[in-house]
This record gives sequence, C-alpha cells and structure tokens, in this order.
Amino acid sequence: MNIKSKLPDVALTIFSKMSQLAVQYKAVNMGQGYPDYNPDHRLIKCVHEAMLAGHNQYAPMIGVERLRHAIRNQIIRLYGRSYDPNDEITITSGATEALSASIIALVHPGDEVIIIEPAYDLYAPTIRLVGAIPQYAPMHRPSVNHQNYQINWEAVERLINNRTRMIILNSPHNPTGFTLQTTDLDRLEKIIEQHKLILLSDEAYEHIVFDGIEHLSLATRPALAERSVVISSFGKTFHATGWKIGYCCSPKKISAEIRKVHQFMVFSVPTPLQVGLAEYMNSYAEVHHVKHFYQKKRDRLVAGLQTTGFEPLECQGTFFLIVNYQKISDKPEQLVAEQLTKKHGVATIPVSAFYQNPAHPSSNQQLLRLCFAKQDQTIDVVADRLSNVYDL
Ligand code: PMP
Ligand code: GLN
Repeated sequence: MNIKSKLPDVALTIFSKMSQLAVQYKAVNMGQGYPDYNPDHRLIKCVHEAMLAGHNQYAPMIGVERLRHAIRNQIIRLYGRSYDPNDEITITSGATEALSASIIALVHPGDEVIIIEPAYDLYAPTIRLVGAIPQYAPMHRPSVNHQNYQINWEAVERLINNRTRMIILNSPHNPTGFTLQTTDLDRLEKIIEQHKLILLSDEAYEHIVFDGIEHLSLATRPALAERSVVISSFGKTFHATGWKIGYCCSPKKISAEIRKVHQFMVFSVPTPLQVGLAEYMNSYAEVHHVKHFYQKKRDRLVAGLQTTGFEPLECQGTFFLIVNYQKISDKPEQLVAEQLTKKHGVATIPVSAFYQNPAHPSSNQQLLRLCFAKQDQTIDVVADRLSNVYDL
C-alpha cells in the first residue's frame, strides 16, 4: 500500500536509537534523559494508596482538582503569578502532550514558528504536522567572551514577520544547559510589545538550576505571562519520567483552545498518579532540594572527566552536560557516539541531533550530551571508562 507520509524525513528519535544501542552493547546509558534511580518512596506510596483508595477511573479532562491547586500554590510561591486552577491550568500527558496540544491548538497552516537551535526534537515536526513552518534562530555558541550558549536575539528578531505566530523557548535548555537571564526576559518583553506573538515556554527542567542561578519562568513577568503557555513536567522534578505527567498554564482564552485539543488527544491522564502527586506535593515535596541533588551529580561528573580527553562545557541547568571530544577525534558526532557505545560501553547523544540538519558540518562541533541523572557509582564507572578513550 502506498502511504503518503506526513513526515517523510522523520526517523526513530535519537533518544530511542541510542537507548537501543546501549541495550545491544550493554553500555551505560548516559544518552536518553532519565534517572537510574527511583522516585522518593513516599511518592510511590502516595500513588499506591490512591490506587487502593479507588482512584482508578477517568480523571476530569482538565486534571485532578487537588493537583491543579497544588500547582497553582507552587507557582505563586516560586514565580508570584496566580493561575486559576479551573480555567488556566491543565494536566497533560507529560510536557510532550502539553507542547503538542499547544502547537496544534494555536498554530495555523502557513504560520511561522520560531525555534531556538539547537532544539528539542519534538518542536519542528509538530509545527510541520499542522502545516506551519519552523524558522530556526541559531544560538550563539560558547566563545572567549562567554562560556555558555546564549540566545541570539538579533537572529530571532530578523525572523519575525507578519506570518510569525509563536516563539518556542526552552529554559533550562536541553541540550545546552543555558538558562534565561533577566536581560533575555527584558528583550522578550520588547519583542512582545511590538509583535503580538504567543510564547510557548518549555520549562520541563524548571527546578534543576545550579550555582545559585534562579529559574526565570515566563510566569514571573506579567507582560510575558499574558501571552505565554508555561509548561512543566513532573517526570524531571520527581525522578519519574515514565509516569508522563506534566502540565501547562496559560491565560483562560489560550487554555480554552489547548483544552479543546487535549480532550481529543488523550482526554485525561492517569488518575492515581495525579492524586498521588497532589498528596505528595501537599505533604512533602520541597522542590528546592532537586537543584542541590543535581548540582552534586553535575560536579561529580565534571570532576571525573578531568582525567579524560572529554572537556565539559558550562552547564547552568537541566541534567545534561555537553562534552567536547576534539582532543580525541575529529569524526562526526553520530559516528563518535556510536563508537563510544560499542567500543567503550558509554551511550551518549550527539548534539548534532538537535539541529535541523544533523549531518551538516556546522551541526558537528565535536560535542556529545551526557545525562548525569545517574547514581554516583554509575557516574564513576562512566568517568573511568572515558579515561581509557584515546581515539575514536
Ligand atoms: N521538553 C524538553 C526540553 C525535554 O527534555 C523533555 C524530555 N523529556 C520534554 C519536553 C518532554 O517531557 P515529558 O517526558 O514530561 O513528556
Ligand atoms: N527528553 C529526553 C531527552 O532529552 C528524551 C525523551 C524521549 O525519549 N522522548 O533525553
């Protein structure tokens, strides 16, 4: 049968590919972003108790009320904005569904959507699926003047025209670890003053920021929040990526459109997980621990890499560290990532996979992404294995 593909150039994601290779070669999987430890046992208990208490049927389409209230309270505490739990907060199947539902609901055929490159893999194909066009604004790469990646706002502004509907932002940023600074939000406010755009803010790693940096949610600025969908994921915060529970917050009019899509994509997401998360957030969850927990892991990996030929780049947030392998090889990133998995038992993600054209030389800067959401002993094993890599 002749199937006319809507995404003819899209293959299995790099995360699945590298995870499969890791299994095949019994490598340590530092690629796909997930922890090799369990969530807090008290959280698991809350979910278990929710199941035993009979919370096993459909949840309300917009999410369990107590969870929406717990999210509202947390956002007031952290970012000073009060989203109405009835009209402005929706529980979704991970940040993934929140992103897809927002794009499907808010972007029209022929619209343009600006994404910052390197970019998380979901954005561009989803934009294309609704008949819209992704426009890429490349980040400034680290240089002698600044150690981290930065958003190139001139490049963003150059792309804006009367077809531009949305800008997608992601902070803390996967894969670079960049975080939005005050000056970035100032700049964004200026842009929004001039152009009536929607901002889709992927803040899945909102609680994982380091060295005293504060996460600057778009919810902290009223002028931005009015035009934003702010998205997060419990998977990252509570070490439960497999639960696929996330949420999106936006003003009522925007939320109403997103909910029209959400109700037909998934209708609602697992009830006992939502009830358990609400109970846990109300009773125990202190999300500020998460940043210290991950900062130690980042520092352990960075220290372990000192005796290797892999040089870490700066990482302000997320649980990913980019390393440069230029001392070891000049081969393209995908090939090096595969060799490292097969020969040295360490799976990583080539950073080129976050570019629209991964094979292009400009997308290959001899960089690999390592996920450090791993037990200390796993990090030590990886550092040890990498110290024996001289050539790839
Ligand atoms: N956005 C970013 C930047 C991510 O890294 C991820 C990761 N997994 C997601 C969204 C999706 O989150 P979830 O697993 O909650 O769907
Ligand atoms: N967000 C995860 C990462 O960047 C992957 C999630 C997925 O496999 N889709 O590694």
